[in-house]
Amino acid sequence: MLNGERKTPQPLRWAMVGGGRLGQVGYKHRCGALRDNTAFALVAGAFDIVPERGREFGVNLGVDADRCYDDYRTLFAQEARREDGIEVVSVATPNGTHYQITRAALLAGLHVICEKPLFFTSREAYEIKALAAEKNRIVGVTYGFSGHPLLLQMRAMVANGQIGEVRMVDLQYTHGFNATDEVDRLSDAQKWRIDPQISGPSFVLGDISTHTYYLSQLVMPQMQISELLCDRQSFIPSRAPLEDNALVMMRYANGAVGRMWASSVNAGAMSSQRIRIVGSKASLEWTDINPSELSYQVQGQPNQTLYRGMPYLDETCNAWERLGALHTEGLTESWANIYLKFALAIDACNRGDRQALDQLVYPDIDAGIDGVRWIENCVRSADQGARWVAFE
Ligand code: NAD
Repeated sequence: MLNGERKTPQPLRWAMVGGGRLGQVGYKHRCGALRDNTAFALVAGAFDIVPERGREFGVNLGVDADRCYDDYRTLFAQEARREDGIEVVSVATPNGTHYQITRAALLAGLHVICEKPLFFTSREAYEIKALAAEKNRIVGVTYGFSGHPLLLQMRAMVANGQIGEVRMVDLQYTHGFNATDEVDRLSDAQKWRIDPQISGPSFVLGDISTHTYYLSQLVMPQMQISELLCDRQSFIPSRAPLEDNALVMMRYANGAVGRMWASSVNAGAMSSQRIRIVGSKASLEWTDINPSELSYQVQGQPNQTLYRGMPYLDETCNAWERLGALHTEGLTESWANIYLKFALAIDACNRGDRQALDQLVYPDIDAGIDGVRWIENCVRSADQGARWVAFE
């Protein structure tokens, strides 16, 4: 169980690029990183594409005015001159900027925590992996839902055979906020999401299904997709060539099959993510709208609900428990958990503790690469008229 006590020598000197006043995701990063006050300290930033607004915002967050910079290049250059300069930076900007900012940060000797989808191509992602290795720095990816403790309970139960052989994988991340084109006209954050120059080769596949795909990898690390078929479409025609809805079928190397539904036009839906793993003996099902409960359904027996924070859960799950059973936890705690994992990874990397780094389960550069590969394969299938393609 976590209690906020220090787990690393001192808080890491941390900066943000993006995540400014009007940014959607910036506050989630700060909720996660600053939750315990012992893992990260926000000391600098280039928070906004509009420098003046970014400086004012940074000062309101408690950052010294002279450490609120106009752009990320100045941030990295000026901080490198300080003895107390930043050690790690989070990138919370639109997709099309991730590669260049991450590359510049690694070249400046910084650890990087970057938003998903990590980059546009796996070629870029492998190049960044090599650069991070050369610089001995970590690149973490903010799959922000992956810190919910019960996902580790699912992982343990799949691993120790409590559902038998995995046969089917049912994944869903859908919402209805883009059911009409009104949001495309009103929201800057939506405008770039449907612009391939900024969003990349996909909309909902990258924007939301990468989260659920990572959850499936977290829960079933042994499962490899061998082939997939993706059909993607844009129900609001002006979003083409990017998709606001996608259906994917997967075949796994062990003979299991799966499906993913990613959609931003699931009108009225308010539940977002669902992951159901069907085994030969039993099934497990979890939703992010109700993250404190895990449904365990053994064939022929009454269904069970496993509750967060209870002593019957696996120790790998309860190690990330914060408030205790009965007391509501949610997305903030999930982000706090992944940020704590980033801090532990950075500390292990700095100490050259390869064993600790290898044992830590967190969304690392490989998870980021896999998300990019997932998008690439889905798009390749869809662009061939929804054909089965080998997963490359
Ligand atoms: P947004 O458009 O709402 O906000 C982007 C922020 O970045 C703004 O503050 C903007 O001023 C700033 N910015 C843009 N370019 C910049 C630059 N070159 N330098 C400094 N600041 C810059 O976007 P968003 O919805 O917050 O998404 C940002 C990223 O986060 C995207 O990659 C998106 O996919 C991802 N995201 C992740 C989650 C999650 O749960 N992990 C949730 C939402 C968004």
